[in-house]
Amino acid sequence: MRAFLSVFIICFLFSCQSQKSTITTNTTKLNSQPKLVVGIVVDQMRYDYLTRFYNKYGDGGFKRLINDGFNCKNNHFNYVPTYTGPGHASIFTGATPKTHGIISNNWYDKVSDSYVYCAGDTLVQSVGTLNKAGQMSPHRLKTTTFADENRLFTQMRGKTIGISVKDRGAILPAGHTANAAYWFHGADEGRFISSTFYLNTLPKWVQDFNNTAAAESYLKEWNTLYDINTYTESGSDLNTFEGGFKGKDTATFPYDLKALSKDNRGYDIIKATPYGNSIVADFAIAAIDGEQLGSDTITDVLTVSFSSTDYVGHNFGVNSKEVEDTYIRLDKDIQRLLEALDAKVGEGNYTLFLSSDHGAVEVPAYLESVKIPSGYFDTDAFKANLYETTILNYKAEDLIKNISNNQVFLDREVIKSYGLNLASVQQEIVNTIIDYPYIYKAYTATSMTTTEFSGGVESLLQNGYNQKRSGDVLFVLDPAVISYSKTGSTHGSALNYDTHIPLLFFGKGIKKGSTMQHTNIPDIAPTISALLGISFPNGATGKPLEFVLEN
Ligand SMILES: [Zn+2]
Repeated sequence: MRAFLSVFIICFLFSCQSQKSTITTNTTKLNSQPKLVVGIVVDQMRYDYLTRFYNKYGDGGFKRLINDGFNCKNNHFNYVPTYTGPGHASIFTGATPKTHGIISNNWYDKVSDSYVYCAGDTLVQSVGTLNKAGQMSPHRLKTTTFADENRLFTQMRGKTIGISVKDRGAILPAGHTANAAYWFHGADEGRFISSTFYLNTLPKWVQDFNNTAAAESYLKEWNTLYDINTYTESGSDLNTFEGGFKGKDTATFPYDLKALSKDNRGYDIIKATPYGNSIVADFAIAAIDGEQLGSDTITDVLTVSFSSTDYVGHNFGVNSKEVEDTYIRLDKDIQRLLEALDAKVGEGNYTLFLSSDHGAVEVPAYLESVKIPSGYFDTDAFKANLYETTILNYKAEDLIKNISNNQVFLDREVIKSYGLNLASVQQEIVNTIIDYPYIYKAYTATSMTTTEFSGGVESLLQNGYNQKRSGDVLFVLDPAVISYSKTGSTHGSALNYDTHIPLLFFGKGIKKGSTMQHTNIPDIAPTISALLGISFPNGATGKPLEFVLEN
């Protein structure tokens, strides 16, 4: 009996002790949250920009994130279309357009029978400009971001600030409850602005920043940071695959931005150069001070989207010296931002991730010149052809409402009035367009809602398909075929050049390491939520990446 008792007591003590140690561990964990989460998006950054320019990067930027953080080397978008609006929304909500509703940058809205912009909101007013450029909000985003969940969790004590040169790049990441989102308004003003969705006047630190005439200082010469002859990771500076700026005959260095600004929408030209990233970094550093981000133990969120990379890619193409120089310079801006975070928030007190909203295709004309299958899809000719065929088949001129974003929207009222069956009309359009050159696959909306696709382009289409907002027929173009000008790169497809993008985690609570395991963009927000111990964004479909988190 005594022996039994002592065993019992020992067990009791042991279990108490182990319980105590569990509680202690948990308490420690709760107290060790980052003071600040920084979510960085580099617009149009392909994964191979990390490797292609690796030897050109310094130790304090991308390399620091790779070597001191966790590199998910096989990270992809799991939906189409791979555009900026859906990309930013998906990174921060952990969902896809199917759930968060941002199906494109602009889309045909069935209800209002007009085009809508993903961040456009006529019910709010501009703040910081008389221009309408501030009439923006996240009201079309249907679900919460991890920043929203952090705000709810902290009783609105944790702040959220979103920053970008693009309005949608600032607004969608920050979410619905953000203290503010700020974006760059170029034209003849060159300043950061906001909307009455967030606040009624710009805070003093923003006004002060705008008063420094920072934009003016970036209207200077853009030449390569290093000797152009060392830029061996890209094509020749002069070729036929690049756009360039109005007012300069060739797309070649150097660019006199002050002189060129007159023909290129004033301060807007800054957005299309690496200096657009620099001014965003300047502004983000000013925000850390101005908003006292990461200054107490309640976690704040700062989202920073570097969008100039996208403008440069669209203009000059993936293989250009301009893109190479833009990334070399962005590396320096990221280093500057990290150093500011170290100094102001403290090294080891913040958690940061870096990803992208989509990749980009090599210029098809260039691919053609090296014998890789590619091409240009003439959307206008396709539309004209489809209207003609539909009229022949149905004698109904108004059967098709709209064709945009590789989708056909039918007029359901007209279909009803003709006594036609919606699913049959959808299928007949699929059968018609599949014979059209450069169309690789086509699907009906009916198939999107009745079949569960588990792989291939079909599942990416399905993850991007929103039953309320998307069209009646969806089509997919051949690899490296784009509807775009013959110079510069674009994006939007389900192919690896558009879906494979970096994902780096760094800082508090993050392991050092890397993986080749397939990860998806919607995994980011649940991972950050798990790190913070807060609710996942309400529509999140991704999974926390356990292997990047310290125990
Ligand atoms: Zn783009």
